[in-house]
Amino acid sequence: MLERVLQEIRSRRRFVVTSHARPDGDGIGSALALGQMLRVMGKDAEVVMHDGVPRIYQNLPFAERVIQAEAVPDGFLENSPANGAVILLECDSTRRALLEGLEKCFLINIDHHASGRNFAHINWIDSSVMATAELVFRLGRLACVPVDRDIATCLYTALMTDTGSFMFEGTNEHTFTVARELVLAGADPALCARPIYFGHSTAKLRLLGAALSNLHREGPLAWIWVTQEQMQRFGAREEDCEGLVNYALSIADVQVAIFFRELADRRFRISLRSKGEVNVSTVAEHFGGGGHKCASGCSIDGPLAVAVSRIVDRLRAEAVALNADASTGR
Ligand code: 5GP
Repeated sequence: MLERVLQEIRSRRRFVVTSHARPDGDGIGSALALGQMLRVMGKDAEVVMHDGVPRIYQNLPFAERVIQAEAVPDGFLENSPANGAVILLECDSTRRALLEGLEKCFLINIDHHASGRNFAHINWIDSSVMATAELVFRLGRLACVPVDRDIATCLYTALMTDTGSFMFEGTNEHTFTVARELVLAGADPALCARPIYFGHSTAKLRLLGAALSNLHREGPLAWIWVTQEQMQRFGAREEDCEGLVNYALSIADVQVAIFFRELADRRFRISLRSKGEVNVSTVAEHFGGGGHKCASGCSIDGPLAVAVSRIVDRLRAEAVALNADASTGR
């Protein structure tokens, strides 16, 4: 499939590269790197994101040229029906990219989620890798695009964030081989880590305080939430919620942590994280979302108490299965 993707890229001239709305490090880093690789290949390429670039990724190379938009740019749609393509990274549907006009474009989907779907004209989904960045790296290599320090920095940041700083299950020697190659190509691990771990806003820390004061525990489960009112009070943005769930997961005997974020329409965004015993992607998929075994997400209706009980009930069932497995020695 890699060859097929490269063949399509070679035969086309204009590209829009995008990822899911509220992009994470892999979505942004992979898109920035691929956009540049395409330009090095002599293509006309723009990275277009519904939500632009979150603050902690704004210092990445090429971030300043990202176009924040709600639709595929008009010029692209008019001029490129035959020789253009939209490449979606880390995204399991056109819906999650939140860009109008995608349905009129030739679509190439590159993803590493086990829950990835064949929604595009060309679909390259490889869930054996830890980050879409690795697929982009392979693509660049096959295309003979030199990975310079800037491209390496984007790809390393993507890999570092999607592996939870090389801590998530599935991280193995191969992951470090890719990381090593990116460091050899010029990525500086300390510089890449600084904005992610030491670049938070004051609002985010205040929000963290509020979320932790709501911490609920039940056996191997822990959950926290933030409301719209709290976000407004602290002047916090959506991106300030990124990673808060990990604080609940950091408790010694917690197996699964859940973060509930109230949306403006009173629905709730749910982030699920597991230490590995419980597969949280099945829970997210049950509610129309997706993700990975250890990190997944979905949206459900409020009010909060209802959202909590629906998700927690579902997880209790998983945790009971987990306990049963443990007691029968499985
Ligand atoms: P987060 O909790 O950080 O929003 O997402 C964790 C993981 O689950 C990411 O890999 C993300 O792409 C995936 N994910 C989150 N929400 C959704 C969703 O609504 N649908 C799908 N398919 N994946 C999601």
